[in-house]
Amino acid sequence: MPEPGWAGPGGRLSGLGVSQGRAAGPLVRMAGPPSLPAPRPVADPEAEAATVVKALEAVTADLNRRAATARTRGGGGAGGEAAEILEALAMIADDPMLREEAESRARSGADAAHALDAAFTGHRDALAALGGYLAERAADLDDLKHRAVAAALGLPMPGLPDPGHPYVLVAGDLSPADTAGLGPDVLALVTERGGPTSHTAILARARGLPAVVACPAVADVPDGTIVGVDGASGEIALGLTPEQAAEVMERDRAERARLAAATGPGRTADGHPVRLLANIGSAADLRPGAEGVGLFRTEFLFLDRKQPPSPEEQTAAYAEVFERAEGPVIVRTLDAGTDKPLPFLGLPEEPNPALGVRGLRVDRLLPDVLDAQLAAIAEAARATGADVRVMAPMVTTPAEAAGFARRARAAGIAQAGVMVEVPAAALRAAELLREVDFLSIGTNDLAQYTFAADRQHPALADLLDPRQPALLGLIEACAAAGREAGKPVGVCGEAAGDPAVAPLLVGLGVTSLSMAPSCVPLVREALAGLTLEECRELARDALA
Ligand code: PEP
Ligand code: MG
Repeated sequence: MPEPGWAGPGGRLSGLGVSQGRAAGPLVRMAGPPSLPAPRPVADPEAEAATVVKALEAVTADLNRRAATARTRGGGGAGGEAAEILEALAMIADDPMLREEAESRARSGADAAHALDAAFTGHRDALAALGGYLAERAADLDDLKHRAVAAALGLPMPGLPDPGHPYVLVAGDLSPADTAGLGPDVLALVTERGGPTSHTAILARARGLPAVVACPAVADVPDGTIVGVDGASGEIALGLTPEQAAEVMERDRAERARLAAATGPGRTADGHPVRLLANIGSAADLRPGAEGVGLFRTEFLFLDRKQPPSPEEQTAAYAEVFERAEGPVIVRTLDAGTDKPLPFLGLPEEPNPALGVRGLRVDRLLPDVLDAQLAAIAEAARATGADVRVMAPMVTTPAEAAGFARRARAAGIAQAGVMVEVPAAALRAAELLREVDFLSIGTNDLAQYTFAADRQHPALADLLDPRQPALLGLIEACAAAGREAGKPVGVCGEAAGDPAVAPLLVGLGVTSLSMAPSCVPLVREALAGLTLEECRELARDALA
C-alpha cells in the first residue's frame, strides 16, 4: 500500500471516515430484498417445481450453516441465541407443507419465483391473522420469502453476508440491528449513505471497526475487489493485491498495539486530569483502559425486540456490565425513537420523529417503562455493589430534569444526571444543575438540533462538525455552569472520541470525555501532548 496517497492500482474513492483504523480485504456487498420480475410463461412445470425445491433447500442449508458458525463463534450467550434463531428459521424453510404448496403452484403453471412468493405470502397472512406472538413471526416469513425468491432467481441471499472468510462489508446503509449482528469476519464497513454521528458510525467505533460512510461511488465497485479502508481519512483504495492487504492489516495491528501500550488516567501534559470514560451498548463492548463507563446506551440491548424485556432480563443485562466494568458506570435510560426505534414500545408513528416523542419524552406516554428500568438498574447495582449513576436522554427543561432525578432517587439511585442534547437545555444548564448531580453533553444530537441538520444526512456533515463555533459556545456555557455549581460536566457525543477535537473540549472546561473504547488510546495520547493552557488556546481560537 503506497503511503501517503492511500490509493490502490484501481484508484481511490472518498467518503466520510467515521471510525479510526485501517483494514483491507475483499469487498462483499449486503444484498437487499430481490424485486420480483413480471411472471414468466412456463414451458416445463416439473422443472419449475424442481427449482422451488432446490431454492428451499439452499435457504435451509444457508441458515443451518450460519447457525453452526454462530455456535462455534459465540459459545453460549449471544452466539447460542443467534444459532437457535437461525435454526428455527431453517426449520420453517424446510416445512413440508410450505414446500408442497409452492411445488403445487409451480405444477399449476407459476414460475418458481412466483410460486414461492405466493406460498410464503399465504403462510404469512395466516400467521398475521392469528395475532399476538405468532403475528410477530410474520416478519420472519417475509425474510425467508426474500431468501427463497433470491435463490430461485440465482441472486445473492439478502441480509448480512456470511462468505466464510474475512471481508469488507459494503451496504447502501445499515440499520442499528444489522450493525449489532455483524460477525467477526467483518474487517471494515463502507456505506453509500449515513452521516458522521449515525448509529452505523457509533456501532463501528464500539467494535473498533474502521468505517467510511457517505460514499455513494462504492455502489459501482464489483464484489470481490480487494479494497483498503482508512476510517480516519475516509479514503478507500481499490484493487489491492492480497500481499498489500496483508501489509495494511499488519500495520494496523502494530499501530493499535503501540497505542494500547500507554495506559493510565487521562491527563494533559501538565497533569490536569480529564476522566476518559467508555461509551458502550452492552458488556461485550467493555475493554480495559477507560476510567469508567460514561454512557451505557441501554436501548442497544433491546433494538430488535418485539416483546418488552422482563425485569429479570433487564437486571441481568445491567448486572453483567456493572460486574465487569472498571470504575463508575453511568447508565442512560432508554433513548427510543427516530434513529433508534424500539418496536417493543409500540410507539405511534409520527410525522416528525426527531422532533417528537423520543428519549425521556416517551415517559409522557408510557411512564411505567422508566420506573421499571430504574428499578432494574437499582436492583443490579445493589446485587453487584457497583458505583452506578443514571442519566436521562433528550431532556429539555429543568422541570423534566427535576422529575427524572426524583424518580431515580425514589428507586434508590443516589446520583442522577441529564444529557444536554437540545439547545434549550444548554441555555439553562445552571438551572438543570440545581436539580441534578451532573450533565453529560450529547454533541451528536446537540449539533443536530442546534443546526437543524439531520445527524444521518451525508450532505450536511459540515454543519454537524463539532468544531462549529455555535456548538462550542453551548458546550462552554454548560462547562461554566458546572464550574459554578461544583458539579461535573462531561461530553459523551462522538466529538469526545476525536483526537483532534477532544483537547478543544478540555479547553472549554469539560471534566470528562466519554467515547468508544477503541478511541480511548488515541485521545489519551492527544491530551498528553498538550498543556491545559494550550487546550484553552485551541478553544479560544475555535470559538472565534
Ligand atoms: C448524543 O446525542 O451525542 C449521544 C451521545 O446520544 P446518541 O448518540 O445515542 O443519540
Ligand atoms: Mg443523543
